[in-house]
Formats: sequence, structure tokens, C-alpha cells
Amino acid sequence: MQKPSSHSEFEIIRRFLVTPNLSFPREGIELGIGDDAALIEVPPDKHLAMSMDVLISGIHFPLGADPSLIANRALAVNLSDLAAMGAEPYCFTLGLVLPHSDEKWLASFSGGLEHLARQYNCPLVGGDTSSGPMSISIQVQGLVEKKRATRRSGANVGDRIYVSGELGDGAIALLALGLDSHLGSEFTFAVSEPSSECRQFFEDAYFKPQPQIGLSSAAGKLFSSAIDISDGLQGDLQHILDQSEVAGNIRLEAIPYSKSALCCVSPENRLLAALFGGDDYELCFTVAEKDCAELDSIANDLGVSVTCIGDIKAGKGIEYLDADGSPVELNAQAFQHFSATA
Ligand code: ADP
Ligand code: MG
Repeated sequence: MQKPSSHSEFEIIRRFLVTPNLSFPREGIELGIGDDAALIEVPPDKHLAMSMDVLISGIHFPLGADPSLIANRALAVNLSDLAAMGAEPYCFTLGLVLPHSDEKWLASFSGGLEHLARQYNCPLVGGDTSSGPMSISIQVQGLVEKKRATRRSGANVGDRIYVSGELGDGAIALLALGLDSHLGSEFTFAVSEPSSECRQFFEDAYFKPQPQIGLSSAAGKLFSSAIDISDGLQGDLQHILDQSEVAGNIRLEAIPYSKSALCCVSPENRLLAALFGGDDYELCFTVAEKDCAELDSIANDLGVSVTCIGDIKAGKGIEYLDADGSPVELNAQAFQHFSATA
């Protein structure tokens, strides 16, 4: 495998990765960057949760995007997986592949990582650096009390289905960024030119997704199952239903949207974005009916919005309901297409 010259590799590590705000010490991290492997402790009552995401330039982020935003997104999407498991961030490793060593790029990239690493007390403890077409791989480690991990397989008949935050903005952001969307040519803004506030809102939604770590650590004990919505609500909820061997319904009217989505996108396209878009990094989770009041109160104290969008039923698949509770056939061609491929 091609490597940058060892001089530049070590220079990159020393100057941009071994920084007080990135590879800082924390309890349980015996040894970080600098040896052949990091050494970390796992308390006996906890599981080590590990998750990895690979981001390739031109596919998972636009070529030429602001490096600090790329860094933010790369770490945030990993932290979102920890939130979905109910795990507290612990540390992370970084696989960095760069076409050449660009000091300005690296300084900005490192700054973007530092921000989230400090916010979640999650230091960088190792990685690998190589040259090639740009890609960024991050593996996060988290800690979760044994038996407390919120698996996809735990939903029970009678549970309520919730989502955090608002849905669809990740997919709508692709329009704002001028990137291709798999939602097709009819998926456009309903306004000729979104306001600069809306445009900024969508860019932030894409590059600065907010991992729901706070919600999952405070309320995760109430979740019977959870997943983070990276591929669209329909597909991700289906994973919970499949693994829990249950069915679910979704009240379409209940799906929460941002002000910007309500202002810039038609109702059909909003729904398409929420169900089939992806990149929202909100949580979809199930809660027993008896725990819903406690969930609402915790979410309220945190200032995080959670919305009940449906119920777990016996059976298979997802049923969509209108405002009166009657089943809705999502029979437009687009919906059939995405339902089949989701
Ligand atoms: P080795 O050859 O033993 O795999 P390297 O020379 O690749 O070690 O790396 C030296 C040290 O720098 C190791 O501790 C490694 O974890 C760390 N490191 C290398 N690349 C990165 C990176 N992109 N991010 C964080 N740490 C890194
Ligand atoms: Mg070695």
C-alpha cells in the first residue's frame, strides 16, 4: 500500500493529530497515539460498543468541502451510532487517506475533530495515515452498561414508536448543496430560491448533524429498541421491525419537519425525504406505553424534541395512516420505487 513518506506521515501525526484538544488524556485510556496500539480499559460492568463509518470524497461528502465540516460530519455520524446503542462515547481511531499532505487542509480538519472530541470527551487514540484518493474512516468506541444496550431487536407489541428531532433535512440538504439525490428529478425545492437562512440551515443539517447522545444517555433506559436514521425512516424502522419480529404503523401527519422543510419543500417531497432520504442522524426508538410520560418529561428537561409517530403491532411490515387513522396507500410511482428498493 502506498504511504506518504514516513517523514510527512509522522509530521502529520505530530502536528495535526497529537494536539491537546484531540488526543487528550481521559480516565481509562492507558495509552493513546504513539505506540503500535492504544491501550484502553473496559470496566467490568460495561460492554465496549464499537462502530465504524467510512466517508469517501465525492460520495459521502462533496469534493472541496470545508475540511472542518467534513471532520465534524465524520465524527458526528459515528457518535450517532453510539447514541443508537445507548453507549457513552469513550475514544476513537482515525483512518486518514489523503492525495497529498496539505497543511491548511489538515489544520482545518483537525480543528473540526477537536470541537466534537472535546464536546463528547472522546479523544483520538490512534489510527493510520496513507496517501490515495481522499477518504476518512472513523471507528468510535463507547461504553454501555451490560444489558443496557438498546438493540434493534427489543421492540414489543403495544410499544409506541418515537423519533427525535425533525426528519428529511439531510436529504433536502443535498438540493441546497447542489449534490445528486437518489430521490429523482422531481425531488426539488418548491420555491425558486430558498432564503439564505434556509440554505444555511440545510447545510448545517448535512455537515453538523447533532448526535443524540444526551437523549440516549438520559432516556435510553426507557427505550425497548433504537436505531439512528441514516437511510430514511422507512428502511431504518423496518430494521427494528424485522429484528423484533413485529409490525408498525406510522401516522403520516405526526412526522415532524423543520420550519425550513415546511417552507421550502412540497408535502410530497417532504414525506419522500423523511421516509426514503437518509442522513438525518436522528433516533427512531420504541418505548412501552407506561414509560411515555417519563420520556416526555426527560426530553422536555433536555430541550430535545421527541415525537410519537406510531405504534408497534403484531405482524409484519409498516402500515401508513392518515389523520383519521385510516390506512393510506403510498401508491405514487416514487413511493413504490423506493419502497421496493429501501
Ligand atoms: P504502525 O506502523 O505501528 O502501524 P504508524 O507508524 O502507522 O504505526 O503510527 C504511529 C502512531 O500514530 C500509532 O500510535 C498510530 O495509532 C498513530 N496514528 C497514525 N495515523 C493516525 C491517524 N490518522 N490518526 C490518529 N493516530 C494515528
Ligand atoms: Mg507497529
